[in-house]
Amino acid sequence: MNIIVQKYGGTSVENKEKLEKVCNNIINYRSNKKRELVVVVSAQGNTTDTLLKKAKEYSITQNKRDLDLLLSTGEIQTASLLSMMLNDKGYEAVALTGEQAGILSDTTYGNATIKCIYPNNILNHLKNSKIVIVAGFQAVDKLGNITTLGRGGSDLSAVAIACALKAKRCEIYSDIDGIYSADPRIIPKAKLLKNISYSEMLEAASAGAKVLHNRSVNVGKKNKMSIIVKNSQQKSQGSTINEDKKDFIERVKSNNDFEDYSIKFITKKDDISKICIVGDMVMSNKEAIIKIFNIAYEENVTIFMISFSELAINLIVEKEKSINFMKRLHDELILDTNEK
Ligand code: ADP
Ligand code: ASP
Ligand code: MG
Repeated sequence: MNIIVQKYGGTSVENKEKLEKVCNNIINYRSNKKRELVVVVSAQGNTTDTLLKKAKEYSITQNKRDLDLLLSTGEIQTASLLSMMLNDKGYEAVALTGEQAGILSDTTYGNATIKCIYPNNILNHLKNSKIVIVAGFQAVDKLGNITTLGRGGSDLSAVAIACALKAKRCEIYSDIDGIYSADPRIIPKAKLLKNISYSEMLEAASAGAKVLHNRSVNVGKKNKMSIIVKNSQQKSQGSTINEDKKDFIERVKSNNDFEDYSIKFITKKDDISKICIVGDMVMSNKEAIIKIFNIAYEENVTIFMISFSELAINLIVEKEKSINFMKRLHDELILDTNEK
């Protein structure tokens, strides 16, 4: 099969008008080229944030399992609406949840890791000439619990599905013309990058460039899946993420500059906090260091940066998880030790 996977992000599906554009894009694609199409969608506009806010209003503890179930509904709504709109226009489509699409993950609610994808259901629908619409950002664990893949996770769903289906490429449609040398909303003079390597994009995405989920770039890199970022609202050449070697060849071809050390990208990370753990000779306190990493693991905290000195360990973590993480560090590094 000659499969293409397309992903439409939150702003590209935020209302009926935008979804009409997505329908036209899909229909044009289908009529021009006889290719099977799988479309992954995000929740409309700010739906995920609104659901998170709602959960906070209704519940103090926000049970992680049920929160993921709630959040997964955003993407399911978009998939169902888009499929119904395509069917209205005479194009046979079918909407699938992440589970129905065969995406199996571990049970790390809020930031689950994809374990494998069973693509049979998608393939059967494609064989019956259906356009398959998949709700992004979600999976199911082996016990049937619905999980989510981390904020911005629909990119990951799309690239992972593309790899599992051995698709020709994965097209990521967003609200910008492609990948720029910096966030064009902060730096309007930023340059559109025609090509960028997986390694450079992975570094930039991990350091805060929201345009692609970092794990989606990693999955693409491992499976050599061609990823193209384009504008969903207007025609754009877009940006292609290439293998490092291919990117290098493209550069050499275009400017004949064999040793090219040009700077490609500048980005920043928002919503992070620095936690400082102070204690005499803390750098050599192995028991404390093991505890810090264990707590980070149990609380699903990503440590973006760490520095050691004889007196302090400094950690940079997500702001959202920092208070809880600090409480646990305090309980186990200070209270527990003093009680002994
Ligand atoms: P979507 O909802 O389509 O997934 P996102 O909001 O997650 O879209 O990502 C697109 C946004 O990423 C852009 O609107 C832009 O502000 C931001 N962005 C940050 N860095 C870059 C960059 N280097 N190039 C392009 N966009 C960037
Ligand atoms: N809706 C989810 C989020 O807002 C996933 C995504 O858009 O990719 O994070
Ligand atoms: Mg996104």
